[in-house]
Amino acid sequence: MISFIEHNMYLKHKMPNILESPRRLQVIKKALTTAGIYNHPEVKVLTPEPIEETALKDIHSDQLIELIKHGSMIGDVAITADTIIGEHTFSAALLAVAGTKLAAEEALKEGNTFAFAFVRPPGHHATRTNAMGFCFFNNVAFTANYLLKMKKAKRVMIFDFDNHYGNGTADLFYNRSDILKASIHANPNYSFPFQGRVYEIGEKDGEGYNICIPLPLQAGDLEALHAFDKFIVPIAREYKPEILLVSAGYDGLREDPYGHLSYSTFGFQVLSERIKKLAEELCGGKVIYSLEGGYKFKELGEAVLASISPFLKDFDYAKEPEKKLLSGGNISEYKETLQALRKILKPFWRLD
Ligand SMILES: [Zn+2]
Repeated sequence: MISFIEHNMYLKHKMPNILESPRRLQVIKKALTTAGIYNHPEVKVLTPEPIEETALKDIHSDQLIELIKHGSMIGDVAITADTIIGEHTFSAALLAVAGTKLAAEEALKEGNTFAFAFVRPPGHHATRTNAMGFCFFNNVAFTANYLLKMKKAKRVMIFDFDNHYGNGTADLFYNRSDILKASIHANPNYSFPFQGRVYEIGEKDGEGYNICIPLPLQAGDLEALHAFDKFIVPIAREYKPEILLVSAGYDGLREDPYGHLSYSTFGFQVLSERIKKLAEELCGGKVIYSLEGGYKFKELGEAVLASISPFLKDFDYAKEPEKKLLSGGNISEYKETLQALRKILKPFWRLD
């Protein structure tokens, strides 16, 4: 069975004039419903219970937790220009953490493999002490830490395919080797949070365990898939995670208003096929996706559907849109990035 995690509260968190809005989940739900996914015999929908506030202290400062809580009591408080606390934000953010945790617990059950947490607000920019970039608490980071703490896994891998580097996740585990962080994102010279360069590889015990692959502006599916094959796959094989947690952001879609890449919906399907295959090879197929970004409403639902399709038996989504991969961006910049990355990572991993 595969599990979808949903909750009405995810639709109640709102930030005025920001595209990280309830509409995102509505277009996803519509695309899945239209495709008949909710009637698929292997799909079940689950609703999480909130986690205890105190559990958040495992990854977030008291000050941040209090800030979001008090902000919600006041309502409509901007902590940065694009991170605004509304009356439901604290409840929704607690449930987004809980939803991602539930996805992992479900995926780890015998007979299950894949789960998708359709959560809002997203989480990968939230650091220990700061909310930013539409993120308040770090859903995937909490879950990774929880699995290790509860001894449900010894090695966890987080793979982030959002257009933007998951600086919060990296910050939280920068000196830890029990969580491998790997991200393919847009060139941080131009793209928020302006971090995620090849040399940001982690520190102390975590040195070599934070993999940053920045792509040139407007790079496409071809570049992301190539980077995945050349770096993510061999590193994951050597690391041998027991579960794969994916920060699933769809703002790399071509013409996303907040993105700088040019992925196609079909590209998300092919990437998911490879993620699934890798998880099957390394960790019994145990993989979860937790929703991060994605703001191009016209194609967001299609992209999510495409990325889910490999996990559904007898469901070939690619028959619908054009089966074309996109490529783009400055090729010499891309090649230089890979060359630099290979040199930096060679002491830590066996790479060709
Ligand atoms: Zn993003």
